[in-house]
Amino acid sequence: MSILKIVTVADDNPVLRRRAPKVGKVDDSIRRLMDDMMETMVAAPGVGLAAPQVDVSIRVITIKVDNQLLHLANPEIIKADGEQIGYEGCLSIPGMVGEVARADKVVCKALNRHGKAVRIKGTGLLARAIQHEIDHLDGILFTDRLTDPSTLRRVEEMGDEEIANIEGEAVTV
Ligand code: ZN
Repeated sequence: MSILKIVTVADDNPVLRRRAPKVGKVDDSIRRLMDDMMETMVAAPGVGLAAPQVDVSIRVITIKVDNQLLHLANPEIIKADGEQIGYEGCLSIPGMVGEVARADKVVCKALNRHGKAVRIKGTGLLARAIQHEIDHLDGILFTDRLTDPSTLRRVEEMGDEEIANIEGEAVTV
């Protein structure tokens, strides 16, 4: 496995804004990509990563929430319920957080690391990570979905109280 370079908005790489095509078959090259993405994400550290963030325009995401490791190809939300409002961050937008409303519960269908069709049910953080990562596959960044533009903040410019408040909720995905 190897650590991949994460594309950030500062790189001005159009891959972050492109709609990524589906994976045809989960073969060894896709599995290698999934493994490298998981290693890159855990090292970053983050709880989610999408292939376009490592400059590969294809519908693959990795997520690690509560020690649950997900390597998913062609993920698609088939059910979404409720709402959660919280701060999130993104490995492609380092040092920034903003408030985003997401569904609180989702059901996602995808292919797993072995190419088998699976359904993943997620609530809370897992649901947020799934939605954030699938957005990446469609060229959407969290900054496109802010509840209000004024909630986009630079972490280093915040006071201690605000940081405590926001880091308690912030998620880097
Ligand atoms: Zn992200």
